[in-house]
Amino acid sequence: MYALVTGASRGIGKSITKALLRDDFRIIGTARSSEFPNEFTQNNRFQSLYVDLSDPIAVEKKIKPIFEREEAPNVLINNAGIFKESGFDKGDEFWLEQWDQTMQVNLRAPALISKWALNRWTKEGEGYLINVSSRAAYRGDTQEYSAYAASKGGLVAFTKSVARDFGEQGISAYSIAPGFIKTDMAMDSIDVYGEEYLTQGMAFDEITSPDEVGELVAFLASGKVPHMTGSTFHINGGSYMI
Ligand code: NAP
Repeated sequence: MYALVTGASRGIGKSITKALLRDDFRIIGTARSSEFPNEFTQNNRFQSLYVDLSDPIAVEKKIKPIFEREEAPNVLINNAGIFKESGFDKGDEFWLEQWDQTMQVNLRAPALISKWALNRWTKEGEGYLINVSSRAAYRGDTQEYSAYAASKGGLVAFTKSVARDFGEQGISAYSIAPGFIKTDMAMDSIDVYGEEYLTQGMAFDEITSPDEVGELVAFLASGKVPHMTGSTFHINGGSYMI
């Protein structure tokens, strides 16, 4: 199996990449600018790619050709995402800037990359799309993060549309909806509110490890459960159950 994992340098993407390398995948892992762990760069099944998903020209130049090569990934994991604060008290210009950037990175780029992958996979009769959404898609977020929640809700609806229409062509699509996961993205909230505050209402007294998300993605990417297509997998320490 051969996967493209966006945001593979840190956090959830790093855990996904670790689990997939263990499971003998070949991987193209992307990041915006930070270095990849040595355990990845020293593995000859790992190839790194720097691309800023907020730059549509760079996305087209660097990612589109991956799905036009003789051998292309048959698994796409759209994991990279941003969590930008912008309250309703901010000026329209700034508010829309944050909105547009969030949509570009969290929804527009993943959808376009998925389109390139799907057009390739329909020719090959196999493919697995895994989109990392958020619990914010289901429960909303504070108004400062409404763009984030909207982008993640859009990603779930997009994934379901792929699942509905491409199953007969051997393609499955899944969404993951994590709650608070212990990564740099969650650290801002941990720093402000403390871990204890964030675990209130959870079934556990600690925030979820990114490695659990890595294991879940590795299971879905294995191709063992294609009929779970269209499903969203909630991994939030029991903070809500649906
Ligand atoms: P993270 O620790 O902040 O890591 C983000 C990853 O995405 C990094 O590899 C980063 O690359 C990459 N990235 C960020 N902006 C990018 C851009 N403009 N272009 C290209 N790559 C970019 O985040 P995380 O917590 O692992 O989150 C991963 C996914 O899970 C996101 O979609 C997030 O929304 C979702 N999620 C996270 C949580 C949570 O509590 N952590 C909860 C729900 C959902 P660099 O290292 O180069 O910056």
